[in-house]
Amino acid sequence: MNRASPKTQSVRSPPEGPIQPVDWRDFRDHLATADPEGRRVWIYPRKPRGRYTRARTLVSWLLLAIMFAGPFIRINGNPLLLLNFIERKFIILGQVFWPQDMILSALTLLVFFMGIIVFTAAFGRLWCGWTCPQTVLMEMVFRKIEYAIEGDAPEQRALARAPWTPRKIAKKLLKHGIFFGLSFIVGNTLLAYLIGTEQLFAIVTDDPRRHLTGLTFMLLFTLLFYGIFARFREQACTFICPYGRFMSTLLDENTIVVAYDHKRGEKRAPWRRQQTPEARRAAGLGDCVDCHQCVSVCPTGIDIRNGTQMECVHCTACMDACDAVMDKLGRPRGLIRYASLNGIERGERLRITPRLVGYTVLLLALIGVWCALVFTRSDAQTTILRAKGTLFQQMPDGRFSNLYTVRVLNKTTRPMPVELRLEKPDGQLRVMGEAIVVPPAQLAENAVLVELDRSVMRSGTTPLLIGVYSQGRKLQTVKTTFIGPRNDVRKRK
Ligand code: SF4
Ligand code: SF4
Repeated sequence: MNRASPKTQSVRSPPEGPIQPVDWRDFRDHLATADPEGRRVWIYPRKPRGRYTRARTLVSWLLLAIMFAGPFIRINGNPLLLLNFIERKFIILGQVFWPQDMILSALTLLVFFMGIIVFTAAFGRLWCGWTCPQTVLMEMVFRKIEYAIEGDAPEQRALARAPWTPRKIAKKLLKHGIFFGLSFIVGNTLLAYLIGTEQLFAIVTDDPRRHLTGLTFMLLFTLLFYGIFARFREQACTFICPYGRFMSTLLDENTIVVAYDHKRGEKRAPWRRQQTPEARRAAGLGDCVDCHQCVSVCPTGIDIRNGTQMECVHCTACMDACDAVMDKLGRPRGLIRYASLNGIERGERLRITPRLVGYTVLLLALIGVWCALVFTRSDAQTTILRAKGTLFQQMPDGRFSNLYTVRVLNKTTRPMPVELRLEKPDGQLRVMGEAIVVPPAQLAENAVLVELDRSVMRSGTTPLLIGVYSQGRKLQTVKTTFIGPRNDVRKRK
């Protein structure tokens, strides 16, 4: 994006300690959150306000509701999402994936990664700013609690520098107590997605000695999330998350990003009283009044006027901050906005390019294929093979019979009564022994006898179509063959 010359920014201090002078001019050479000695520079972003923040707040409420309710939501009796790596059992949108679903699992991963690539190439890091659980929880939950207890950035800074008075201790204890409690809830929610709510409730309600591993993970997840949201914060996006790093390989001049319009904004200079936009333009000045409002709200501590940077999580806070400044100055909003480099260079407003349409169609097509495969797959996997070492039998009434071994894998989490019907050709199918009921997530094996009249049989082998039903619903059609005498042998007889 633009290469406008940066300048020294407002100095930030670590939570408790003296203010460190930092020269930001070489912003590409070091992190905004580290001082020249490599020590953490604590970010105190100002509370963002504006239309984008309001929209993100609404979206985050919806996402948080889905995230926390997710483990309890059931589709056909299955959880919305379960990623049980220990038992190699995965449920997505109520659909159970077993190790036998290798192809579908591989396709799911392919769609996921393709989706990320296509989405990022078209829309930049929209995911990070609007839907990433890290950003949503950090900015919409933990940060808001911090603002409520410690106040906005100036008060937080003052509190950090203040001596440890009872008031400061009380505020810190309250904040960290709530952070720890919330981290416990977030950690348990993650655990519910990994092992399921039933197992989680068993850990909570059973004798603790029987669930030492589960309780250990509960504590570890709580500490992990507490560490991330209380201390690590934006560092998780900068250092840990690979998405921000490989994003730079996916962006091009048409990708939509949070961008500073340097053509309109430069040359930046403070606004002077009574100065009109015409007078500024005549003096060769742009709309940026160098107020640093966009920098002061940034949760990753960067100056978006330096151009697209890896640390930018596209949270839109700088867009709202700058819009507020433009409103006060009577200038059009959007000095910082969603835009592509081409959009800014050519002065065009955001437009839907053919590439964007193509990527969106591709992404929707991928999702469509995945949904079609997932929602049309069978709940059961059935194989019907002739019983080992058997040939056909001729019955006293002249009909022929073949004995088969049927194996049915129940891919659901419920017991599955199974009924087999011979669909082609006409004949009789009898399950030997008791009716087939496959326990949840297990394989059942039964013997089945098929009897055909000579009139429907072909010479040698006759193809069979057998329908697999459960509670009146057809799950599958299985092909197999029926062995009988060849015509020439029949004639000789
Ligand atoms: S908020 Fe807008 S006007 Fe102020 S420094 Fe940032 S870009 Fe310039
Ligand atoms: S530069 Fe703007 S959009 Fe990017 S992280 Fe900072 S405030 Fe958010």
